[in-house]
Amino acid sequence: MNKSDAERIASVFEDAGLNETKKESEADIVITVACSVRQSGINRIYGKIKEWQDIRAKRPLTTILSGCVLKSDRKKMNKFFDLIFEINDVSKLTDFLETNIASEQKFFQIHPKYDSTFQAYVPISTGCNNFCTYCAVPYTRGREVSRPMDEIITEVQRLIEKDYKEITLLGQNVNSYGNDLKDDTTFTDLIKKIDEIEGTYRVYFYSNHPKDMSDELIEILPKLDHFPHYIHLPLQSGSDKILKSMNRHYTQKQYLELAEKIKKNVPEVAITTDIIVGFPGETEEDFFKTKQIMEKVGFSMPFIAKYSSRPGTVAAKLEDNISKEEKEKRWRELTAIQKEILSRENKKLVGENLMVLIDSEKKDKYYGRTDNYKVVELPKKQTDPIGQFVNVEIIDSEAWILKGKI
Ligand code: SAH
Ligand code: SF4
Repeated sequence: MNKSDAERIASVFEDAGLNETKKESEADIVITVACSVRQSGINRIYGKIKEWQDIRAKRPLTTILSGCVLKSDRKKMNKFFDLIFEINDVSKLTDFLETNIASEQKFFQIHPKYDSTFQAYVPISTGCNNFCTYCAVPYTRGREVSRPMDEIITEVQRLIEKDYKEITLLGQNVNSYGNDLKDDTTFTDLIKKIDEIEGTYRVYFYSNHPKDMSDELIEILPKLDHFPHYIHLPLQSGSDKILKSMNRHYTQKQYLELAEKIKKNVPEVAITTDIIVGFPGETEEDFFKTKQIMEKVGFSMPFIAKYSSRPGTVAAKLEDNISKEEKEKRWRELTAIQKEILSRENKKLVGENLMVLIDSEKKDKYYGRTDNYKVVELPKKQTDPIGQFVNVEIIDSEAWILKGKI
């Protein structure tokens, strides 16, 4: 989401006649797109502020802050930035840059300056109505607002015409897309429509909320041509007590049933997830339930976070009673379980031929991802396949990476 925000902001800068530099030391203006999901992201900004103050002692430097910032941080950061603006209110930025862009320009209507020539992020909604008790998003980004379907289709169409190969649809809860629209559009309507666009491309979507995922989505996914059999389904915890305290509105049993239904209907599906360890009150027994569910579902990747109290959220009122060391220990335990699962599962892929989108290179290797989002390493070839789909034979596997040849 931050990357997508930054791409839109970059385009406003470009329209204002400014050039981008990747080197901070050369910049006249720096802009930070903050993430408040965890305290570590905010701490990094405080570190940067120090660096910028040193630069400012020697030469002029304009600093701007946007993205997801909690009110409490905004107050503290106010004096260090020349401009702070809400991500949905770019008119403040355009005014600030003294351009003649209409000041009522809407964020979604800005044509982003995509960072890549073959992968793009397309927001389908902003904000969230769920108020999971640990989460800063509803406070930093406000309530859920869906983007009109025709606007999304136009953006995706334009990307495919430009030969983009991978599009990622973004929303905090894609399954509630359209609830606020007048015309009854749903998320499945949207993806069916996107799938009709002709071309060689694949589309991912983040994030699904287990409480809102529809049977219709599970039924149509395997029938679509451009949507890999891949679902990101955040679990957060395997304990009903913790799930309730997180305000997630599902139980471990319901989550498992949903995962089973997905596996049954979507052949060779990859399910990834988000998990938080060390939520207030998480006992050894609660944590054990998370481990259990990890084994049962066999995630193809979990993003494991250590709980970080966010000021102003409901959970911030609970005592953050799991020590840093214990959170670290639980994080390591889950990572070890996952490593074992993946070592086992990835071995089964050796000998298979898979389509891989090559997205980067390092020394004498190319890297890319399969449809179900596994990283593949390949030896370099004479012709550069970056940004291309290639057919790859998997010749070896490790827990976090597959090795193949074109
Ligand atoms: N809307 C998405 C996720 C948004 S934030 C969803 O509901 O799935 C991405 C992930 O960050 C969350 O799934 C959660 O695992 C993690 N996260 C959010 N707030 C957190 C906090 N206070 N501490 C630790 N992890 C957190
Ligand atoms: Fe945060 Fe929950 Fe909304 Fe995701 S669904 S953004 S975790 S409040």
